[in-house]
Amino acid sequence: MASIAENISAVREEIGKAAVGCGRPAASVSLLAVSKTQGPDKVREAYAAGQRDFGENYVQEALSKISALPLPGLCWHFIGPIQSNKTREIAEHFQWVHSVDRLKIAQRLSAQRPANLGPLNICIQVNISEEDSKSGVALAEVADLCEAINGLENICLRGLMAIPAPSDDIEQQRLTFRPLAQLLQRLAAKYPQMDTLSIGMSSDYAAAIAEGSTIVRIGSAIFGARS
Ligand SMILES: *Cc1c(COP(=O)(O)O)cnc(C)c1O
Repeated sequence: MASIAENISAVREEIGKAAVGCGRPAASVSLLAVSKTQGPDKVREAYAAGQRDFGENYVQEALSKISALPLPGLCWHFIGPIQSNKTREIAEHFQWVHSVDRLKIAQRLSAQRPANLGPLNICIQVNISEEDSKSGVALAEVADLCEAINGLENICLRGLMAIPAPSDDIEQQRLTFRPLAQLLQRLAAKYPQMDTLSIGMSSDYAAAIAEGSTIVRIGSAIFGARS
């Protein structure tokens, strides 16, 4: 079995190839290692291989890892569903939140963000595969939500995130991502700080990069299958 360091280097190489293959600089795509269900030892191993950004889905699990790993330069991203009674812990312990899907959550994150940590970077989660019941706002509702979130004091609205329904077909994957990428372009004309497209997981990151992803969120291709 390949080590975490080997997996990270293979994924980085694939990211670079996918970016360069569509005329983008390799450095325009950053790698978020999704460490949900992985113990702190695994995060440490990835850190030793140079990985700094980690994504977590469950607040309690993340908090115990964050406190077990006081390593310089670590950047924690919350990417899971958000219950409103968990916003304070998220606001206090993460630098990014990718999964904001309603105004109330953004308002609570802004109100609870400690001032000394600077603005919390957030992405709006969009439901781009309408046939399934994944969380996220509908494409048609994103612009209004941006308008409302953009004025919040301790939030920096950075972009859009999505988790599409799985497909093995790269053309289908690209078609599913495309409306989201187009929407981000339109929004960025109005909100210049919106520079982030958080799409692409282990099975579709090449397609996501071809459609403009700036952050790919990779779990199993780095840490192996989750039990
Ligand atoms: C688990 C998860 C990932 C990573 O999925 P893999 O298929 O293991 O790469 C990415 N994004 C979110 C929101 C997740 O929950």
